[in-house]
Amino acid sequence: MAPEAFSQAVLDWFDKEGRHDLPWQQQITPYRVWVSEIMLQQTQVSTVIPYYQRFMAAFPDVQRLARAPVDAVLHLWTGLGYYARARNLHKAAQQVVEIHDGAFPETVAELSALPGIGRSTAGAILAISRGVRAPILDGNVKRVLCRYHAVEGWPGRSEVQKQLWALAERYTPEERVADYTQAMMDLGATLCSRARPDCPRCPLQTSCLARARGEVSLYPQPRPKKALPRRRCWMLVLVNANEEVLLQQRPPSGLWGGLWGFPQYETPEQLQAEADVQGWGQSEPLAGWVHTFSHFQLEINPVQMRLQGAAQQLEEAAPSRWVAPERPGQIGLAAPVVRLLKTLAQN
Ligand code: SF4
Repeated sequence: MAPEAFSQAVLDWFDKEGRHDLPWQQQITPYRVWVSEIMLQQTQVSTVIPYYQRFMAAFPDVQRLARAPVDAVLHLWTGLGYYARARNLHKAAQQVVEIHDGAFPETVAELSALPGIGRSTAGAILAISRGVRAPILDGNVKRVLCRYHAVEGWPGRSEVQKQLWALAERYTPEERVADYTQAMMDLGATLCSRARPDCPRCPLQTSCLARARGEVSLYPQPRPKKALPRRRCWMLVLVNANEEVLLQQRPPSGLWGGLWGFPQYETPEQLQAEADVQGWGQSEPLAGWVHTFSHFQLEINPVQMRLQGAAQQLEEAAPSRWVAPERPGQIGLAAPVVRLLKTLAQN
């Protein structure tokens, strides 16, 4: 299909069947588009909507986000995962206010210089909020293009990326760029979905190469397999006389940076040594589980102990607070910590 016919087919489909009532499609500003784009990375629309609405209610503009404590931002992110996104969002908001006087930059290069904004997100912000002809290549668009052209190779490889960007550039129209950008993301999320592509309803079906070959499920080609390394950790569930547990804030960078969690040890011996120094009594192992990250697995072994006396040394090691498991308060928590608190609350 010629580029004009391709974009016209996608736009015609969008006019009839695309989504037009998502929260970030209302009162469009660069700020609102940016927050939605960051939340939608690796996360489905239906999951994002309530998070987005709460976030916008708390931080309706970039100034309000820049001024907020990072804890408040992480709190509203709890459950969405990939917390570096929230920390970068906060940092980028501060840079927009400090370096750009609160106005979003108007070029892909300047936007991409902000933390957490890559070329595709920059393109989406400019195309959707300002109608600038800037191509995007998020996961959904990649999938459509990989299938449409039966692109060989894992899209994470740089030469495949390059080919996909060239295709994205070729098909992005001069007119109605905002609608086209939204339409391509929609097409990938709804019709050309990962698991159940609905080709008979697709506006590109007559010229889609993967469909013509009956090989839709082969694209995009997967990352060459590598076993995920496994790490282990021991989480101390220290319970005081009020049935509260101790949480500590993690360092600002690294795994779960800035979030609150149980004191964590790399070996059971380290945990026991702490318990011996503090003079705590019996330890009770709780049911553990394996949490999978994109690049490794973490075996989590919770161990419960009852506080006898003070936990001063632990409280001094990092910002600490005692919380009731059923009411941890307005703080950012990593998913495994939420899970463990819920189990404790039920028991
Ligand atoms: S025809 Fe099927 S595989 Fe091809 S782009 Fe459309 S939905 Fe995706």
